[in-house]
Amino acid sequence: MMKKVYILSHSHWDREWYLPYEQHHMRLVELIDDVLALFETDPEFKSFHLDGQTIILEDYLQVRPEKEALLRKHIENGKLKIGPFYILQDAFLTSSESNVRNMLIGIEDSRKWGAPVEVGYFPDTFGNMGQTPQLMRQVGFKTAAFGRGVKTTGFNNAVVDDEKYASQFSEMWWKGPDGSEILGLLFANWYSNGNEVPDTPEEAKAFWDQKLADAEQYASTDHLLMMNGCDHQPVQKNLSKAIRLANELYPDVTFIHASFDEYLAALEKDLPKNLNTVTGELTSQETDGWYTLANTASSRMYLKQWNARVSRQLENIAEPLATMAYEETGEYPHDQLTYAWKTLMQNHPHDSICGCSVDEVHRENVTRFEKANEVGKYLADEAAAQLIKNIDTASLSEEGSNGYPFVVFNTSGSEKTGSVTTWVEVERLPFSEGMPQELYARLKERKGLDFEVKNAQGEVVPSHIIADKVDFHYDLPKDKFRQPFVARYVQVELLMTDVPGLSWQTFLLAPAAEKKAASTEANIASSNGRVLENRWLKAEIKDNGTLTVENKDTGKVYENLLQFEDVGDIGNEYIFKQPENERPIYSMDSDIEVQTVKNTELAAAIEITANMEIPVSADERLEEEQRSMIEFRYREAQRSKETTTMVVKTTVTLEKDSRQLKFATKIVNNSKDHRLRVLFPTSLQTDTHFADSIFEVVERPNKVNKDWQNPTNPQHTHAFVNLHDAENGMTVATVGLNEYEVLAQNDQQTIAVTLLRSVGELGDWGYFPTPEAQCLDTYTMTYALSFHGQKGIERTYQEAMNVQVPFSVYQTSVHSGSLKPDTQFIAQTDERLALTAFKRNKENNQIVTRLYNLANEEVSLDLKVMGHEAQNCNLLEEPEKTANPSVVEPFEIVTQSWQKN
Ligand SMILES: [Zn+2]
Repeated sequence: MMKKVYILSHSHWDREWYLPYEQHHMRLVELIDDVLALFETDPEFKSFHLDGQTIILEDYLQVRPEKEALLRKHIENGKLKIGPFYILQDAFLTSSESNVRNMLIGIEDSRKWGAPVEVGYFPDTFGNMGQTPQLMRQVGFKTAAFGRGVKTTGFNNAVVDDEKYASQFSEMWWKGPDGSEILGLLFANWYSNGNEVPDTPEEAKAFWDQKLADAEQYASTDHLLMMNGCDHQPVQKNLSKAIRLANELYPDVTFIHASFDEYLAALEKDLPKNLNTVTGELTSQETDGWYTLANTASSRMYLKQWNARVSRQLENIAEPLATMAYEETGEYPHDQLTYAWKTLMQNHPHDSICGCSVDEVHRENVTRFEKANEVGKYLADEAAAQLIKNIDTASLSEEGSNGYPFVVFNTSGSEKTGSVTTWVEVERLPFSEGMPQELYARLKERKGLDFEVKNAQGEVVPSHIIADKVDFHYDLPKDKFRQPFVARYVQVELLMTDVPGLSWQTFLLAPAAEKKAASTEANIASSNGRVLENRWLKAEIKDNGTLTVENKDTGKVYENLLQFEDVGDIGNEYIFKQPENERPIYSMDSDIEVQTVKNTELAAAIEITANMEIPVSADERLEEEQRSMIEFRYREAQRSKETTTMVVKTTVTLEKDSRQLKFATKIVNNSKDHRLRVLFPTSLQTDTHFADSIFEVVERPNKVNKDWQNPTNPQHTHAFVNLHDAENGMTVATVGLNEYEVLAQNDQQTIAVTLLRSVGELGDWGYFPTPEAQCLDTYTMTYALSFHGQKGIERTYQEAMNVQVPFSVYQTSVHSGSLKPDTQFIAQTDERLALTAFKRNKENNQIVTRLYNLANEEVSLDLKVMGHEAQNCNLLEEPEKTANPSVVEPFEIVTQSWQKN
């Protein structure tokens, strides 16, 4: 059969990277101008692939709104190929829901213009997540194209050692953990293998001889794909001439200007039977380990912390509250949420969230996070205001008594335990009543009252008044001018135990009948401030700052927990590289201070300060090695002899009834070129461990393959890392700390979580200094630790995810209302099922839930939304013909739509 070459024009559009956003943006305007002009003038220039991201249309029209009609014309006539995604996101550093919303919004935007290209397009993604096949199948796609993650062996090396992560051909079957299968297209010669085609005979011959041979080495059929474009590549204006020439030079080969549709239609007909099948996540497991780019998970850690915060604000706070409020108002802020999601997702491309761009880019990332977060907070407050207005609080307040009702919402999808601290307004003086400074002074004179907290049943619940204050504040009524006032507030702490997911409870802060005598008997911390204990855990702080913790359920004792390890880093934003033969510096060898900062019967907190003496930076060789572009692997720089003190202050908190030890580590970083990690030795021996990935608890090997050269094996997580044997297990929960490694130490496994990584250059194809990637600032990192026995593994996963979703507390007035003071919106699901979405459908305002299976076993689907009936949906929230499932298969993602009954 005759060879056929499909030349596909595109430009891989990193919106921001080694140049600030607007520098690339202005070039994008020129690119699209040129492409549109070419469509008008060259009838042989058939189509242009718009890099799989619809945001390019928005970026262009922002500058050239008058070109909308022309854009539409060329999308409708099939020349400009758009979608299917909103942006090209990093797969591992964006949440499960972010991965879905990128498709949902991208496909919705595509359909406003025409039809999306139905190919999962991941040309530059730094490794591919395991659930991609299922996610693609659930939006009706049967193909994904990607540039990394799989080793191709080609024809010269016909034996594939480990078929899971290697393929003989550039085409392969890709199977997800649930069994979903798609066709995978690897850009084996990169997504630029047909870039800049010469239009003079001699050069064209040399070019094609090489390019055809390169493609044939991996192609499984006679259909060869040539990607005519690269990063920010201007469109090739003489391509038609170059294609005509190629057809003249190679009479036995047909060259055509083509789109994915044409290439795929031909390819699918001729696929051979012997394609390899790769399985699950594709993270370059079978390579030498240097270029997995997994260390982007620890570059500019502040971005990852922001991302976790904003993702939770939208997914787990604003959307659930707005979904519940709809029942009262009949309104849902679809447009505002889409705007917030789009703003957040603009930070999700692989060069943005990965922290591997120049400083200007990441400053703008922070601004976008702030913007998306403020929208999320506004929408949450608006929805909560609608709910609390209708919650009956009159029944809590006895006739004539002074009471201050407030509502505690658990907006997460699962049961939550923990203490809640909130400010409650107890007296208000509006500005209309006097001069602000007088009003302030009047309130300041008021004597402190003692208060107690009662629940909806009128029972007094354990609580503490922590502080009081007088403060300025204001209301912004919807129909009146702003209302400023001065008010007195008391800060109250109470304990919430086993609060069901998506529920609220109402409390009343009321003057206490009598002053409570302070008792210290039941306090969580011991009087010497060295032991924290409740009914689940006992943690002892050692002189060297480490913890010995007993899981009282099983009696298993874990020692030497909470070690801090600091090493040099002479790599870049992409890749960590420790100086040769350098010895780590540990907190246990530093000056340690221990102090009790809080101790009641509800919660106790102990602060452990490690004053770590570490080098100020790498030595002077590093800058010269960076400037001369010596690859990190061959650098000889060491750490400087000059040192400084890095203060690492960790607050360890244990709450009554909680099965988690919670940590907040404040780091004052004055050092460059280093990496700080926290280590949790598990004292367990296992071959594999488990981590939170996209809709998947992924099991990863503790050991690397035989070809692995990199001394480290960094991995991604979102909310947790777990390691367990048959009897015991430990789960480290992380909040915006996406990088970990499982280390083998003395035959046992240690979980190491990166807290901070400081580097001075971008890396990649030149020298781009990034002084702000040194992260010279003060940061607070939060994480937690929990344990399990033979059972309860998934409980620790839910607890870990829940650490990221705080209780939401809103004060209200005493009034009657149609909603009960204590309300549960859903029936609790099995702890093996994790709810990721609780939102409304844009078309019909029905409730949409999405969940997945945390366990590798079939689980009955017992989710119920009160007063609603379920229908099975796909990821685009379109009803499926299939019946509502009664079970969730291992690794299955289930989306349901709920109609009021
Ligand atoms: Zn890229």
